[in-house]
Amino acid sequence: MTLNTPPRHATSTIFPIESGELVIGNLPLGRLALRVGQTPFYAYDRLALTRRVAELRRHMPAKLKIHYAMKANPMPAVVQHMATLVDGFDLASAGEMKVALDTTMPAEQISFAGPGKRPQELQQAIAAGVTINVESPHELQTIAKQCELMGLNAKVALRINPAFELKASGMKMGGGPKQFGIDEEIIPAALQQIKRLGLAFQGFHIYSGSQNLKAEAIIDAQQKSLRLAAALAEHCPSAILKLNIGGGFGIPYFPGDTELDIAQVGEALAAEMATTEKALPEAEVIVELGRYLVGEAGIYVTRVIDKKVSRGQTFLVVDGGLHHHLAASGNFGQVIRKNYPVAIGNKMDSQALETVNIVGPLCTPLDILADKMALPKVEIGDLVVIYQSGAYGYTASPARFLSQPEAVEVLV
Ligand SMILES: *Cc1c(COP(=O)(O)O)cnc(C)c1O
Repeated sequence: MTLNTPPRHATSTIFPIESGELVIGNLPLGRLALRVGQTPFYAYDRLALTRRVAELRRHMPAKLKIHYAMKANPMPAVVQHMATLVDGFDLASAGEMKVALDTTMPAEQISFAGPGKRPQELQQAIAAGVTINVESPHELQTIAKQCELMGLNAKVALRINPAFELKASGMKMGGGPKQFGIDEEIIPAALQQIKRLGLAFQGFHIYSGSQNLKAEAIIDAQQKSLRLAAALAEHCPSAILKLNIGGGFGIPYFPGDTELDIAQVGEALAAEMATTEKALPEAEVIVELGRYLVGEAGIYVTRVIDKKVSRGQTFLVVDGGLHHHLAASGNFGQVIRKNYPVAIGNKMDSQALETVNIVGPLCTPLDILADKMALPKVEIGDLVVIYQSGAYGYTASPARFLSQPEAVEVLV
C-alpha cells in the first residue's frame, strides 16, 4: 500500500524502539501506560528536553539568553525542569506566573507579556519583581497607579508592534494593526511616559511571529528587531538592559516540513549581536522560545476502543481526541487539515500496513486525529501515539467539551 505512507519526521527517531515497542523515559510504552494507570495521557521526556536546549546552545551565540515561553507547556514539572536549562521564563498570565515562581527560576529573569493584564495581575507582577512587557499606554498608567498604591516600583519593558512582519510565518503577531504591543511609531511617546511616571525602564520586547521553519525569515526579523532597538535608544529614559527579540523558531509537523537550520540562524545572529553590542553595551539579548524547546519531547497516547468499516474506509475509534489535543485534530489555526506524525506505539516494527482514519469519541466530525494514514494493522487495545505533542497540547485544548474524562500528563 503506497497511499499516504506515514510521514518521516525527525522525531520518529528521538524515542528508541525495543521489541517493537516505543520507549519513552526508559519505559516501554505499554508499561508506561500501566504506570500512568489510564489512557489517554501525555508523556514528556526529560532527557529529550535537556538535549534540545544543549543542542540549541551549541549553535547560538554564547551571550544570547534563551528564555522559555511557558504557554507552550505550563505543566509544573516541565517548567521546573526547564528552569534548570534556560536563562529565563516569559509568561502571559498570573496563573503562569504562579507556576514560574514556584520553580527555582529567579524573578529577575522572568517577564510577563500579553494584552489585557488586569490591575490585580499587575500588582502581583510588581510585588514579585518580574519585568512587565507593557502592551499599551493605558497599561503604563495602570502600572503606575498600582505602584503608588503599594509603595513599590515596577520594572517595565515596552512591547513594540514593529512596522515589519515575520515573513513566511505560521502565525504573525507583529506588523500592521495588532492587539499586541505598542506601535513602533508611538514608542518615543511611551518612553517619555515611562520617564514621567518614574518607572524602572528595562528595555524592549519585539515578538513578530510563531512556527517559522525558514532561517532567512527569522534572520531578517532578528536583524530588523536589533536595529529598531538601536534606533530607539536615543529616546530611552535609561540604558536598554533587556532586548527580547522574540523567537518564532518552528518545528516540522507535517509531511514536507523541513527542520529549521539553527546553525544558519546562530551564525547570522552572532554577527548582528556584535554590531548591537557596540551601540547598546548594556543590553542583554534574549530569544523566547516555546514549541522549539518542548514540542518534539512530548507524545500523546490514546487507546483503540473500536474498529469499524464504513463504505470501504476503516475507522479506528480511540479514547482520546480533540478535547485533549486540539492541534492534532487540525482545529488550532490550521487552514487545511494535515496529519500530525502518528505511530502505533506497541507495533513499531510491524510491516503489514492498512490505511485508516483515527477518530475520537466526540460527537463531531471535527474529532479526527489521523486522516487516511497507512499504519501497521491495528487491533482493539493498541496504543496510538501522536508525536510533536510537547507544545500546545493539553492546555491548548477544550478539555471540558462533551464531559469526557481528563488526560493525565507525566514527565518521564
Ligand atoms: C506564544 C508566544 C511565544 C511562543 O511561541 P512558540 O511558537 O511556541 O515558540 C513566545 N512569545 C510570545 C510573546 C508568545 O505570545
